[in-house]
Amino acid sequence: MAYCRNCGTENDESSKFCINCGNSLRQRSEATTNTEGLESNDKTLIFLGNVCISPLLGIILYFVWKDNKPQKSKEVCSLTWWALGLWLLLIILFVIIMVIAEA
Ligand SMILES: [Zn+2]
Repeated sequence: MAYCRNCGTENDESSKFCINCGNSLRQRSEATTNTEGLESNDKTLIFLGNVCISPLLGIILYFVWKDNKPQKSKEVCSLTWWALGLWLLLIILFVIIMVIAEA
């Protein structure tokens, strides 16, 4: 059973609109999924994009989603930090290897 969020009437799980007031039962649930975070697939893609292309990608996505999708932008932000950390680690590793090679 799905309860109408407008009037509280019990509706069939499959019905799109409330039988009592006609309020859309689907739209509300779609609206709540919009505020949810990223899917694990998206997370992997964004992280790989950050690492393979540039952490700039994450920063751009953060600013794109900042106003409309705060939860997503927050997750992109943390993913970008991880990617930045990985980049920093690679650069440090690269510098160490260069120093050892020159010695
Ligand atoms: Zn209703």
